Amino acid sequence: MNVVTRIAPSPTGDPHIGTAYIGLFNYVFAKRHGGRFILRIEDTDRSRYNALSEERILAMMDWLGLDPDESTAVGGPHSPYRQSERLDLYREHVDRLLKEDKAYRAFETAEELEEMRNEQKRKGLDPGYDGRSRCLSSQESDDRAASGEPFVVRLKTPLDGTTRVVDALRGEITFDNREVRDVVLLKSDGYPTYHLAAVVDDHLMGVTHVIRAEEWITSTPIHTLLYQAFSWETPVFVHMPLLRNPDETRTKLSKRKLDTSVDSYREQGIIPEALLNYLALMGWSMPDGREFFSLQEMIGAFSLDRISLGAPVFDPKKLRFMNAKYLRDLIPLENLTRRVKTLFESAGFAWEDDDYLLDIVDVLRPRVETLNDFVAHAGYFFEDDFSYDDQAKKKLASGQKYLEDLEREFSMLEFFDYDSVDDLVHDYVQEQGVGMGKVLQPLRAALTGRAQAPSVTDLLVILGKRKVMQRIGRALSYINAGLPDDKPQRPEKAKNATKTRHEAA
Ligand code: GLU
Repeated sequence: MNVVTRIAPSPTGDPHIGTAYIGLFNYVFAKRHGGRFILRIEDTDRSRYNALSEERILAMMDWLGLDPDESTAVGGPHSPYRQSERLDLYREHVDRLLKEDKAYRAFETAEELEEMRNEQKRKGLDPGYDGRSRCLSSQESDDRAASGEPFVVRLKTPLDGTTRVVDALRGEITFDNREVRDVVLLKSDGYPTYHLAAVVDDHLMGVTHVIRAEEWITSTPIHTLLYQAFSWETPVFVHMPLLRNPDETRTKLSKRKLDTSVDSYREQGIIPEALLNYLALMGWSMPDGREFFSLQEMIGAFSLDRISLGAPVFDPKKLRFMNAKYLRDLIPLENLTRRVKTLFESAGFAWEDDDYLLDIVDVLRPRVETLNDFVAHAGYFFEDDFSYDDQAKKKLASGQKYLEDLEREFSMLEFFDYDSVDDLVHDYVQEQGVGMGKVLQPLRAALTGRAQAPSVTDLLVILGKRKVMQRIGRALSYINAGLPDDKPQRPEKAKNATKTRHEAA
């Protein structure tokens, strides 16, 4: 079979995590079977339409690397892919159902429908449209429509009995036909409802597998009845488990409880590989139980029978954890450095040699969770006039002697490579007969302004002799000036002291 899948997001706001999740499974299933993946824009709800949203959905898919084979952007054999541009097609199909007496026009006003509902309530009847326009003659129906009276078109659904739906993950599900009584297909504004548009498009676009979120399961009997009305073959339905909020309620993922915007995670420095991997685990597992895998690996191993119908919880903390693992171990250094470089540029950092960046990314990667953390941690590699944080000040205060000694020792060191620097520091610590930390902590504080930073030897080598000398000098001036940031009345003295030392150097 020539597999065709699709996602059909509605452009109503921020590109949603749920769209990425469903997009991933549709993409992977299509690619697994050498099929096609379509992205169609369902913009028939004009009241919720957001003009920028379509572009952002496409950008999200691009960022995730889930490229549709057919879409509003790349076109395709079933153009157009925006439902608002397919209104004639829906009307044609509705006309066909009207002609075949499988659908009918209903002319009730909003007030009449309201009254009908109130009466049903009073009489304790099931709510729902009671089919009162079914009995209009086709002559009357045509005349009233021709005279411009507003109407909707409704499907003639069976008055009793059940409709059987097959879901590939759940098997057969039976729905009472009274629950879907005479659903609206065409609204009075001439736009199709979701049900009509989805079925017509899925059929015309050759969709073989409808993989969508569980919340659409109750629409599936309507769709099944519509397929029957058109005498079309139904596609395979696969309803993915809904993503849940990570709190006790475990309700459907909602932006009121949690950040559901993919753009927002992207801006926080989550990388697409990690997000895809995390979303994959929400509904599926690798046959060998591996937690970390690439999109290609998922495609290679994918099958529907490993989709689990649990209630997957989308936990941003776990996503960050997964992201950290990607940044630390899984993304090759050069690749990671390319991504970080762009952020460093935007942060206004400047450097001469890209090898410097490779070294920085290499020592920082064990300490970050997101791409943005690189920027937050790396300032001292690019700026010489950083301030000292409180912890660092404490370390400096107790390290004056060591810094003075090391300044002297480093100045005499000819080769500033890893081994020489490491030997020097170790020998010095041994001579002093103190713990490593006593010497390394003030040195780290002097080099970075922080108490928390990568290994001192790494820092020494990456910064190089000139910067190391300059920074130790600056720290000693600072100590000599009495750690002025602690005593705001003395900033002038600090500046002068720094200058004097520099001039002396
Ligand atoms: N427009 C629906 C959505 O936003 C599509 C549902 C479907 O896939 O049939 O999810």
